[in-house]
Amino acid sequence: MKSFDLVIAGGGMVGASLALSLSKADLKIALVDQQSLTAGAFAPDSLYAPRVSALTEASSRLFQRLGAWELMTSQRVMPYQHMFVWDSEGTGEIGFDARSAGFKTLGNIVENDVIRNALLQKLSETDIECFPGQSTIDYQLGEPHQIQLDNEKIEARLLVATDGAESRLRKLSNIPSSQKDYLHHAVVTTVETQRYHQDTAWQVFLDTGPLAFLPMPSRGGKHYCSIVWSLVPDRADDILSLDDEAFCQAIESAFESRLGQVISADPRFRFPLKQRHARQYHRNRIVLAGDAAHTIHPLAGQGVNLGLQDVEVLSEEIIRALDRGDDFSASHILNRYQRRRMGSNLLMMKSMEGLQNLFASDDIGIRWLRNTGLKWTNSLPLAKDMLIKHAMGM
Ligand SMILES: Cc1cc2nc3c(=O)[nH]c(=O)nc-3n(C[C@H](O)[C@H](O)[C@H](O)COP(=O)(O)OP(=O)(O)OC[C@H]3O[C@@H](n4cnc5c(N)ncnc54)[C@H](O)[C@@H]3O)c2cc1C
Repeated sequence: MKSFDLVIAGGGMVGASLALSLSKADLKIALVDQQSLTAGAFAPDSLYAPRVSALTEASSRLFQRLGAWELMTSQRVMPYQHMFVWDSEGTGEIGFDARSAGFKTLGNIVENDVIRNALLQKLSETDIECFPGQSTIDYQLGEPHQIQLDNEKIEARLLVATDGAESRLRKLSNIPSSQKDYLHHAVVTTVETQRYHQDTAWQVFLDTGPLAFLPMPSRGGKHYCSIVWSLVPDRADDILSLDDEAFCQAIESAFESRLGQVISADPRFRFPLKQRHARQYHRNRIVLAGDAAHTIHPLAGQGVNLGLQDVEVLSEEIIRALDRGDDFSASHILNRYQRRRMGSNLLMMKSMEGLQNLFASDDIGIRWLRNTGLKWTNSLPLAKDMLIKHAMGM
């Protein structure tokens, strides 16, 4: 049986980043994923992938340190300098500008496939042993743990679960978690718009939920935005049943034609949205990170950014323990990781819940409050600077 210091179960954006960030430590590491762990070939003319992430400055810096950022920028990355948010039910609006907050960009929109490919390419240059096409099915606690994959058993002193929102390992380890259905489904796709997006991430709060137009690189004189449209499930059914022309008309009208006509749309996909939070981030030398530990509404594009902050802190704690000659899998080390991450993850989660409730309300008083609040905050540069720095993970 192969034996490792650390087994990372789940090689998505979070698991692959964690593996890379620990690749220089004096540890024998394995990365397991039910999918391939080989970087796919990038075709510059391919359609934009339907899943993208708005990466904060903090996340881009992590990728720079991991040596993966250059690979991403050599493929497709869209920096944005402005953000504009408004309430379709009133006159409230707020704009953010990178330069006035002292930054070059507010963030970058990157296709998830581009992120994962860059990480996998860098991983192929390390000693990390990959187990592609293998699910982690079960484990037996011990010193070391025995982990049952589809086709073999491996051993690990520490098992990290980065196996996503439906984490099998979180369930197997009986770590309790709270769950709340947002009663929203996200419809995602890419659209071509008549006008350039002005390097701006746009978001309108509709009575049915938020609709985001995220800027993508222009090609051949054509302009594109990636769409995340959160809707109650019945309305999502209606939207998904529309043909291309009717969909373009519906989304253009919901977006108040801010970028002119919506000319065409790629195939649409749907994701049910749930808030989840594990009450503990570790138990019996099994640690949770990324969506396995927490999922939030995508309205502020923070999900993977929080997961990447988990990666920063967990690797920092493990490396510090190794430097001191301490046991990196000991519960006081993992407690520190939990202490440092749980508060910020919860704060972001509660902020998203508050925002979602604020904009979902029909109450005339709350509508007045949110419109006045947006206008008022928009006129306070210092408050806006603080908000934007927080959203950028700075
Ligand atoms: C519509 C939408 C838009 C979003 N937009 C943003 C955004 O703009 N910005 C942002 O920060 N976040 C965003 N998010 C959130 C973001 O996509 C997630 O937080 C992120 O994908 C989580 O990454 P992860 O690596 O933790 O999990 P995942 O991406 O789910 O990866 C889990 C990996 O584990 C593997 N796996 C699962 N089970 C097993 C098993 N048993 N054995 C082995 N392998 C397994 C899977 O194959 C997968 O590779 C959005 C989410 C949604 C739904």
